[in-house]
Amino acid sequence: MSPLSFTLSLLPLLPLALGALDAQTVKHPHNIKNPHRSQLKRAITNDASQVDGKSFDFIIAGGGVAGLTLASRLSEWNNVTVLCVEAGGDGTDVEDKIDIPGYSYLNSLTGSAYDWAYNTVAQVDSGGGTKYWPRGKGLGGSGAINGMFWGRPAEDEFDAWATLNPNADETWNWEELNKYIKKSENFTAPDADTQSKFSMVIDESAHGSDGPIQVGFTSYIFDACAAWIPAWKTLGFSGIDLAGGSTRGAMFSTSTINTHNQTRSDSKAGYIDPLPPRSNLVILTGQQVTAVLFNGSSDASGNIIASGVSFQSAQGAQSYSVQANKEVILAGGAVGSPQILQLSGIGPKETLSDLGITNRLDLPVGYNLQDHVSYSMYWSTPQGTFTWNNLSTSADLKASALQEYETSRTGLWTYVNEAVGYPSMADVMDSDTEAANYATTIASDLDSTVSDVTSWLSLPSNVAKGLRAQYEIQQKWMTSNIGQLEIILTMLGKGGNEMGIQVALQHPWSRGKILINSTDPFTQPAINPDYFGVGYDIDIIGYGSAFARRLAAASPLSDYMITEVYPGASVTGDALNNYTKTNCGTEYHPMGTCSMLPKDSGGVVDTTLTVYGTANLRVIDTSVAPLHLSAHTMAPTYGIAEKGADIIKKKYWKVVETANTTTTASGSDDSASTAAPGQATDTSVTEANKNGSSSESSSLSSGAKIGIGIGVGIGAAVGLAALIFFFFLRKKKTGAASTEKGWYDQRNPAAGWDNGDGAYKEAYNGSAAGGQAYPMAAFAGPGESSGRPDAPFAHSRTHSVDTMATADLASRAPMRSQSGYGLSGSSTPYRDDHSDDGHGIGAGGMEHGHQYPAPTGGTWPGEQRYQPVQPR
Ligand SMILES: Cc1cc2nc3c(=O)[nH]c(=O)nc-3n(C[C@H](O)[C@H](O)[C@H](O)COP(=O)(O)OP(=O)(O)OC[C@H]3O[C@@H](n4cnc5c(N)ncnc54)[C@H](O)[C@@H]3O)c2cc1C
Repeated sequence: MSPLSFTLSLLPLLPLALGALDAQTVKHPHNIKNPHRSQLKRAITNDASQVDGKSFDFIIAGGGVAGLTLASRLSEWNNVTVLCVEAGGDGTDVEDKIDIPGYSYLNSLTGSAYDWAYNTVAQVDSGGGTKYWPRGKGLGGSGAINGMFWGRPAEDEFDAWATLNPNADETWNWEELNKYIKKSENFTAPDADTQSKFSMVIDESAHGSDGPIQVGFTSYIFDACAAWIPAWKTLGFSGIDLAGGSTRGAMFSTSTINTHNQTRSDSKAGYIDPLPPRSNLVILTGQQVTAVLFNGSSDASGNIIASGVSFQSAQGAQSYSVQANKEVILAGGAVGSPQILQLSGIGPKETLSDLGITNRLDLPVGYNLQDHVSYSMYWSTPQGTFTWNNLSTSADLKASALQEYETSRTGLWTYVNEAVGYPSMADVMDSDTEAANYATTIASDLDSTVSDVTSWLSLPSNVAKGLRAQYEIQQKWMTSNIGQLEIILTMLGKGGNEMGIQVALQHPWSRGKILINSTDPFTQPAINPDYFGVGYDIDIIGYGSAFARRLAAASPLSDYMITEVYPGASVTGDALNNYTKTNCGTEYHPMGTCSMLPKDSGGVVDTTLTVYGTANLRVIDTSVAPLHLSAHTMAPTYGIAEKGADIIKKKYWKVVETANTTTTASGSDDSASTAAPGQATDTSVTEANKNGSSSESSSLSSGAKIGIGIGVGIGAAVGLAALIFFFFLRKKKTGAASTEKGWYDQRNPAAGWDNGDGAYKEAYNGSAAGGQAYPMAAFAGPGESSGRPDAPFAHSRTHSVDTMATADLASRAPMRSQSGYGLSGSSTPYRDDHSDDGHGIGAGGMEHGHQYPAPTGGTWPGEQRYQPVQPR
């Protein structure tokens, strides 16, 4: 046999060899090639020295809503390493305050160490003083301290994000965002009696059912809330489900609540705590990222390459740094992310040069700030009306309600505000014609409004251009069904015997900015939302106040809301405007400070969420939202983060069609395997995906194509080497896994370790998949029997600091399955069953949780799997 024919005869083995190698590395929980892995189990630690000087594939700054979503999703494959750096604590010292829903209103973490406790600069158009601006500081971010509302905007509002980003690599419209919000959501409908008592409209099909975030309703709802939707109906509105793509109407908003034990479901409880040990994920708390590091190199297109981040626990404390093999991702939120960018030399040139910071990239970071501004009106209630004031003023009631909560997870402490509605401009003006006239005035004054805002805020010209595009959309919304105000029933009066209505502007015309005013990362930036800077905003909220008065007077709410106490029925016109300005504050929904917009329209990131001019630096959090929504911002942020994670996966893991696709191509993709930033562009992958089956070759780096073109003989030799390597690796890995295997076996003698292939199983159906691998959902809810020894609801965030006890964290976050709890149920809401990475689902087709849904819309191949390009 000639050498050539010998080589060719081995060719059929090549895909087999590489395929086997790929599958093996995908399945295995450890990567023995990384010497740090044994120390770096999926852990939450506050010991920065453990990671100092080390390198990670992905470094995430901020462990809030978006940050932990990304940390979880990106670490789903074991062959990359992920570090998430969070400035605040891990929450173990304030567990009750995070978990107990009612505490977020009556015993909240605002003002605590878990709050950045910012203040705005003096607000010249709203009373002249500063305004308090809380932001969550700790794992879970603002999602761990917030009011738990879970809602989506109207279709047109997400579609506007796509309109503002034409010809983009990635589409950000309703269909896309809603798909990803649903991916994060696990909805539980209230029982029929509750639905009927409160006139709720529930459309289960509009909600997600398999995501990590538990979404539902509180066990206790005040009787008076039953008057809410009927009163809106009296005014001619319908009751709707907030998830259906329209917000105009009245509803009970869903909350991020685990309905089976009535605890908050935040990003830590949903995306991190239920995970099995992940050797490739480290979450570091108590360290503030002070800068993104650059090593001076650029990619072929001149985009600068982020090489890592530095962090410190406090001013003057030791500074640490870590290196990024692939990407740095900022998820610090609407304040944190722009602050980090600016401190790193990416921001408005003038601002940075005034502070003596070298300007790497002149981008309008910190501009386009938009926030919902709101204030509350109060009415007296008839004697005997039971409200939150009863709870807030009685130590005895607080104690007995807490006891009830602890024993049965019912009662007053489960309640959070839920009754809301979104009227359009015509609704609040009470006339289509008036709304149309108002819209006409706005249109004719558009140029001068843009010019005024540009001058007040010293906007760069590209930001002014983007502002105009946003205003044109907002102007059209004046005559549409888009909600212009959120109207919220609040059961907590200013004094006793009161109920309130909060009026919140949803589409502010005012714009603000967040700019650093010091090179010290521990000095808060100057936050200027410029509330009521543009006069339309005070007009619109004034119409909203008039609407609230009509609503309070509408039957049957009028039975509960008797006399307007604040500001008082006689306060109208300028007096009402002054009252509003003085008493207003943030509704806690800032966004836009790292806007996803075209670069010539004030964009900071493109539609792949990559910072313009960088190869591998992204922002993925609320700050990228370019135009505000008639919705609270948490659910949209989960959608942004889920999509962001998939965008990254598309770049580093080649998307291939199902079965029969060899891994030869992916294994040869040098650009991704060496993770050289910028070589495998998002655009190329997106294009490849659009091209369906041709994606395989078109997504290859040119180096890989050449390699395949000329390297048949060499490839066969590589195949041989790979075969040998594979057998060697497989043997070693089985051994390396033994500690973990033992650990599982010990905890779960019913099996859970597949001795056949050395991989752990992430499956839950005992008979079908060999038993549960993890003690997930280890306790039962009220009235349910799991047969487990754990006390009902027992859980602890404390265990999260113990590396190998991370699986125990399941007991901290009981994940509901459709028929009970994970262990005894047939499915769990969040599992990576490896069906998308070649590991297959359980026998009998059982699907045990998370799978990447096949994207719809025809732009991608109907079915896909991600494959890591090469083991690291
Ligand atoms: C009091 C309050 C109530 C709210 N109520 C609701 C509600 O009911 N419903 C709703 O939908 N939305 C609500 N929101 C808004 C919602 O919580 C946010 O939109 C959402 O959390 C934003 O997610 P994010 O990931 O962008 O930022 P966050 O969740 O705030 O996460 C950012 C994280 O980054 C960390 N960080 C910042 N800078 C650094 C740094 N330099 N280094 C390291 N870490 C850093 C922060 O500590 C934080 O943990 C509320 C917000 C607040 C503050």
